[in-house]
Amino acid sequence: MQEIAVRMTRRNHNAFVHLLGALESQGFDLGEMLITKDFNEILKARPKVVLYSFFTEEIWGSLPQEVRLLKERGVLLIAGGYHAIAMPKHTLDQLGFDIAVIGEGEEVLYHLLKTLKRTNYKITRELLNITGLAFYLNGEFVFTGFSKVEDFWRFPPYPESVRLISPIEITRGCPFGCYYCQTPYIKGLRMRHRPIDQIVKYSRRMKDMRYITPNAFAYGSPGAILKINKLEALLKALQPLRKEGRRLFYGTFPSEVRPEFVLPETLELLIDYADNRRLAIGAQSGDDAMLRAMHRIHKVEHVQKAVEYMLEYGFEPVVDFIVGLPNETPESQRKSIELMEWIIKKGGKVRAHYFMPLPGTPWARCKPSPLSEEMKKFLGRMAAKGKIEGSWGKQIELSRKLQNLMDEFYEEPMSYIGTVRKVC
Ligand code: SF4
Repeated sequence: MQEIAVRMTRRNHNAFVHLLGALESQGFDLGEMLITKDFNEILKARPKVVLYSFFTEEIWGSLPQEVRLLKERGVLLIAGGYHAIAMPKHTLDQLGFDIAVIGEGEEVLYHLLKTLKRTNYKITRELLNITGLAFYLNGEFVFTGFSKVEDFWRFPPYPESVRLISPIEITRGCPFGCYYCQTPYIKGLRMRHRPIDQIVKYSRRMKDMRYITPNAFAYGSPGAILKINKLEALLKALQPLRKEGRRLFYGTFPSEVRPEFVLPETLELLIDYADNRRLAIGAQSGDDAMLRAMHRIHKVEHVQKAVEYMLEYGFEPVVDFIVGLPNETPESQRKSIELMEWIIKKGGKVRAHYFMPLPGTPWARCKPSPLSEEMKKFLGRMAAKGKIEGSWGKQIELSRKLQNLMDEFYEEPMSYIGTVRKVC
């Protein structure tokens, strides 16, 4: 009988593939686990413990119903992922989980499962020795500290005994600290990179080689500067795999690049060594004052330069914007419209997102600004013409739910970097 089940979903697939690789490499037998995207299979299997990993946006989906059904059956529920890390009390008290994993999960999950197995899946004092957990012990809330895995490449990205693959996480952490983004506060401000030989070894398993990184052009760098030699070394090392018929997608889904890293030298590398002719960058706003306010570090001119370079080198620019940013005036929104129009006229694509106050970020308690009539009309018109993608419409509703959640259940986040600066 498999006592442990892993509730895979489309959204947590990549995270669990990496975690399962880490568990197995530490000696955990994955044969003891039921790993499935089918919730009914989990119900039928009657496991003693189920592992979940989810984002805050998912707590309004099927999650509460699943938790209820499993709790009725006396299953111990473990939550990881961004929501559990940023809001452990909400995860335990409101969502009904028994244990929240706080921080990077590779080691903590291994020790947790080993300990639970020994204690017949009961919460005992033994869990106090494991860094990276939040749970209740005799009615008292316990937090054992934030779990960090500085050298995450000690663990392979994929397991061997189970046939699962995903884009490989090649870089973890981000130094830019944008106030709306969870990555730096949960993964740290220092960029750490998986070594090239390991990336090559595991890339062999992919048909289309894709990677997870906050800024694909920053490979090999401490984060804020370009290390072109390191980037070139990685791309070069992947060439034999391309020659065997695999395609290399770099700086595009599921990753992107920072605008100021889009330069003739980085684009030339892609032309020589990669298959994508589409590149995703984050602009976020057309107003320098807003970019400063959200701690983006780059300016509008970096976005314009990046778009011009991409077009010159034959790349389709895909540019992300956030609309409804905190304290965004109609004038700021007009500047974003102007930049979007300019990008579209040049032949680029725009993706528009509505501001969402994500837990664990400095902007968690900030309120979105209403969209000006001009912005609403512009987005509607451009979407109808197929010039703008993105789900800002649905995100307005989601953003409202997040604001209510923050108003009612705000928690000081457990963070990689210590205290998260509050900006609102
Ligand atoms: S938005 Fe991108 S650049 Fe900014 S902190 Fe997040 S990952 Fe880093």
